[in-house]
Amino acid sequence: MSKYDYDLGIIGGGAAGLTAAAGAAQFGAKTILIEKSARLGGDCLHYGCVPSKTLIRTAGVYALLKRTTEFGLPRVQLPPVDLEAVMNRVKNVIDKIQQHDSPERFCDLGAKVVFGKASFIDDHSVNLDGQNLSAGSWIIATGSSPAVPPVDGLADTPYLTNETIFSQKKLPANLIVLGGGPIGLELAQAMGRLGSQVTIVEFMDQILGPEDPDIADILQQQLKEEGIIIYTATKAVKAQYNESSFYLTIAEGGGKGQSRILKAEALLVAAGRKPNIDGLGLEAAGVKFTPRGITTDSRMKTNIKHIYACGDVNGLFPFTHVAGYEAGVALTNAVLRLPRKVDYAKIGWCTYTDPEIASIGYNEKRAKKDGLEYHIWEEPYAENDRAQAEGATKGKIKLLVSPAGKLLGCQIIGAKAGELIHEWVIAVSGGVKLSTIAASVHIYPTLSEISKRAAGKIFAEKIFSPRTKNILKFIFSLKGRACSPAE
Ligand SMILES: Cc1cc2nc3c(=O)[nH]c(=O)nc-3n(C[C@H](O)[C@H](O)[C@H](O)COP(=O)(O)OP(=O)(O)OC[C@H]3O[C@@H](n4cnc5c(N)ncnc54)[C@H](O)[C@@H]3O)c2cc1C
Repeated sequence: MSKYDYDLGIIGGGAAGLTAAAGAAQFGAKTILIEKSARLGGDCLHYGCVPSKTLIRTAGVYALLKRTTEFGLPRVQLPPVDLEAVMNRVKNVIDKIQQHDSPERFCDLGAKVVFGKASFIDDHSVNLDGQNLSAGSWIIATGSSPAVPPVDGLADTPYLTNETIFSQKKLPANLIVLGGGPIGLELAQAMGRLGSQVTIVEFMDQILGPEDPDIADILQQQLKEEGIIIYTATKAVKAQYNESSFYLTIAEGGGKGQSRILKAEALLVAAGRKPNIDGLGLEAAGVKFTPRGITTDSRMKTNIKHIYACGDVNGLFPFTHVAGYEAGVALTNAVLRLPRKVDYAKIGWCTYTDPEIASIGYNEKRAKKDGLEYHIWEEPYAENDRAQAEGATKGKIKLLVSPAGKLLGCQIIGAKAGELIHEWVIAVSGGVKLSTIAASVHIYPTLSEISKRAAGKIFAEKIFSPRTKNILKFIFSLKGRACSPAE
């Protein structure tokens, strides 16, 4: 008999916690999952991936309807958007997906789900509403929340975050978005397309700071064409809310330049994330953490050998697929006692703006930081037949290849980049050679042919060097020309 109530306790019922609970229960471990809110699913389902992608789709349809003449169709007169109806669709999609995440389904799988806020009282036990629960191992999967930057007066204003924007009923005539990262840009473009006049304020020199500037520029250009105003290298200094309007004082030049006041009906804060660790009792359990999150090793283990932390709470890669991956690794270590490690080099991600930006492995910024030598190979969407047919010619694929011909990384900006990247995810994780991709017959006409063309270019240059071309030309010229332009 175990001296603990459960083999495994999981705190947090989002992407990481649910993956861990389903896996542990199927392995036969006596499992309890504790969720503080009234519903399972976490940020991704309720305030993140699902509502944002649903909103983006609606906004994309509306934007496409404004482009009918480009497709040879009559112009359509579009009435203004009813945001309440749009957000009702968002809610319906969440409700449909929520059905997979019911406590009953997890109970059927073999994991007990309880609701309440858990707090460690020692390294094996938590307190939940006055009741003590103990487990042999714990997985902390409490996620993250919007970080609110230290802008004077901001905390006293009714600003929006990803937790409140999807329940808005009225489209703001104008919207300031604080933050030019993936969350801010996706929501800025969607709200802009629905009819808000959007202004983005970003502190860094470019939007999407970790991406290469040539990639970020293509998106920035598109957003500007759609009427979005973008301030980069600009600091938000002061915020005020007066008579239903926000007044945001900004200073350009990284905070040292010209200052101006922006006015808008709504202000969305999308300026980073902070780990949900307040009130968790980490000190009582002896678990180490920093302001970025709970410190873990490559097995997702904290400094306490039977406590693991996965998903956004460890501050490493804030994505749903990473949360699930890390949960699988934590589970293998905690329940099966197998020493599995995470390998982030095989992780890709996507920003779901239009055009989408998807990435795996090294880009130029990361390669330079690690001192790697690389060559770049690019293929534009405009050269692809399907992109022409779709009217989606903006974008490119960019491959980083080592001098020895090894794939270091791939970035794609363009339509369906989040789907196209998977050919490269498999190439990176399976060690597939570039020659295999170049030699694989891709189906015509698809956007995926861009990947084959990019890989093919590398070999075409080697095979068809100027010397080889000249030799071949000489050999075939001996037989004379097949035809002459003068005939
Ligand atoms: C607007 C937006 C869009 C996004 N889009 C994407 C996307 O397209 N693709 C992608 O991969 N990622 C996306 N993300 C990121 C993604 O949502 C997160 O990476 C993911 O939700 C992290 O999962 P998690 O399990 O770590 O945390 P969560 O899913 O947030 O789950 C944590 C759970 O823990 C609970 N909890 C917290 N504290 C306690 C406590 N003390 N006791 C009990 N329970 C507690 C919370 O209530 C929550 O349910 C997006 C995020 C946002 C904000």
